[in-house]
Amino acid sequence: MPVCPTLELGDPLLRQQAQPVTDPAAPEVQALIIDLWDTLRDFQQRNGWGRALAAPVIGVGLRVIVIAFEGQELALINPRFESWGRSQALDYECCITFGAIWGAVYRPEQVVVVALDANGVEQRFEAAGSLSRLLQHEIDHLDGLVWLDREPDAATICTTRERKRQLMDQQGSAK
Ligand SMILES: [Zn+2]
Repeated sequence: MPVCPTLELGDPLLRQQAQPVTDPAAPEVQALIIDLWDTLRDFQQRNGWGRALAAPVIGVGLRVIVIAFEGQELALINPRFESWGRSQALDYECCITFGAIWGAVYRPEQVVVVALDANGVEQRFEAAGSLSRLLQHEIDHLDGLVWLDREPDAATICTTRERKRQLMDQQGSAK
């Protein structure tokens, strides 16, 4: 089952705490990572967006995420925050589980995340900007949270079509 259906907001599986992986080399964990990649790529092809996927989004309650970011492909097993920066950044987020709505959320601008890679080797990520936000969004999924739970600025919540219009306006005024 390489490409899996993605759950939609309201599904109780999205609200469960995912369990740590005990053996990264286990065949079911390796198969899960392949399923996550296949599902993320399929989603990207069909929708033109989506940079990361957490196992709970395909209904699997394990602490595994994959992130495709600026040419890097990262699989993170049992990711945890080592530290958060003090400064907060406000930026828009969207989610595969409710892709019709966008909103701006404050999150720490910088984070340090420690995780096992697909080979079970510990990796440390010092992330800022978009990668930091992606990591925080995906690790939230492992804890049963979505960006709506992060107290978005209510005035910024908008539809995908409105968000695209805003971005086009910004591009137009930047010329
Ligand atoms: Zn999401």
